[in-house]
Amino acid sequence: ERRNPGEVEFHQAVQEFVETVMPFVMDHQKYRDAQILERMTEPDRIVIFRVTWQDDSGQIRANRAWRVQFNNSIGPYKGGLRFHPDVTLSVLKFLGFEQTFKNSLTGLPMGGAKGGANFNPKGKSDSEVMRFCQSMMTELQRHIGEDTDVPAGDIGVSGREISYLFGQYKRLANRYAGILTGKGLSFGGSQVRTEATGYGCVYFCENMFRHVGDSLAGKRCIVSGSGNVAIYTVEKLNHLGAKAVTLSDSSGFIYDPDGIDADKLAWVKDLKEVRRGRIAEYTERFPHASFYPDANPWGVEADAAFPSATQNEISLEDAQTLLKNGVRAVAEGANMPTVIEGAHAFMKAGILYAPSKAANAGGVAVSGLEQSQNALRISWGREEVDKRLQDIMSDIHDKCVHYANDGGGPVNYVRGANIAGFVKVADAMLAYGAV
Ligand code: NDP
Repeated sequence: ERRNPGEVEFHQAVQEFVETVMPFVMDHQKYRDAQILERMTEPDRIVIFRVTWQDDSGQIRANRAWRVQFNNSIGPYKGGLRFHPDVTLSVLKFLGFEQTFKNSLTGLPMGGAKGGANFNPKGKSDSEVMRFCQSMMTELQRHIGEDTDVPAGDIGVSGREISYLFGQYKRLANRYAGILTGKGLSFGGSQVRTEATGYGCVYFCENMFRHVGDSLAGKRCIVSGSGNVAIYTVEKLNHLGAKAVTLSDSSGFIYDPDGIDADKLAWVKDLKEVRRGRIAEYTERFPHASFYPDANPWGVEADAAFPSATQNEISLEDAQTLLKNGVRAVAEGANMPTVIEGAHAFMKAGILYAPSKAANAGGVAVSGLEQSQNALRISWGREEVDKRLQDIMSDIHDKCVHYANDGGGPVNYVRGANIAGFVKVADAMLAYGAV
């Protein structure tokens, strides 16, 4: 608190991590003697800068942007950019911290970082978003590079924004290099990157069910959000024979008791990815569904829950409601969507609870595969990338089980993910000496 006053989200992420990793550190003298946790909770470097741009009425606007380069012990920095009015340094530090261990879990050589701006893309024209992205990249280009730091998308940053950012980098640097991931397929993007976080989260959940001799087939699922992660979570749930009955955005959630099938999801994709509309419109197109304003879907009965919107969207009360309604699995597509007390409740109940570090690592994993393809100047087919994604998610699952040290009870995936992610980064830092 004295070192990082008021950084609530960052404290929360560190607390959740330290609770499970500290006993492991205490058991291993080499980590204990090296002050490793103190070193790991301090980012390597943070860049803060002003982004000025002109809106459509000719007025000059100013936003603040950051890049938090958290830890590059096991590879070049890697992590998304978030555009949202609520972005603060604390939010980006929590995300960069988490990213370090998530990237380690993927088994690929990637360090951890996160960045973004307190820019609200909602209601802005394409030209305004373009001017903002170009202005942001004018500064950001000094700090990134394919061997230094490779940003990607996150909330408010998808294909459109990545394209504007990449175009500006290319123009300024006069180099064509894989300095961002999530690029369009015609200019260095990877197959399955758009789908990767949602697909990966469902693959992870399927692995957890399989581990206890069950599967997602026939399960009723609730999903929050209606952005990139939520949409492709529903798509993969449909592929595996599960039934997703909710989606949400910041104005409320929709409940479709018949399930959001492929045709309905195609309509949602157009609504969200092309028309940039609100989820409430779902009930105008599909009148048998209901819309609940200013509410989240956690009160809807389900076998599995996929929080896929934002941090702290599941309160302790929501967690208790989910448990009371008999939820068997929670797989976190969003980063840190559950408050710490809620996470404790899930662990205590012994349900299949996949923390975001493990469950949503599929996005960055395919970003890593995009970097490999760019470096080799080749592109793999869809099946090839999807197969690698499935293998990586099942490998992460097995690492979590290995380190969960459950002694026969339910697997504690939080402990497993934290320790498995920690070990690789810590060993590299120890090898480097005083860094
Ligand atoms: P998008 O911008 O595509 O979608 C975000 C969705 O969440 C929207 O439906 C949005 O609603 C809702 N949302 C965002 N903020 C809030 C809020 N404060 N309150 C209520 N609803 C909110 O983002 P993504 O789908 O990419 O990201 C979702 C989550 O997944 C984030 O936590 C992100 O960090 C995480 N993630 C994303 C990855 C990726 O590859 N994209 C990779 C790993 C994790 P509205 O439009 O109304 O704001």
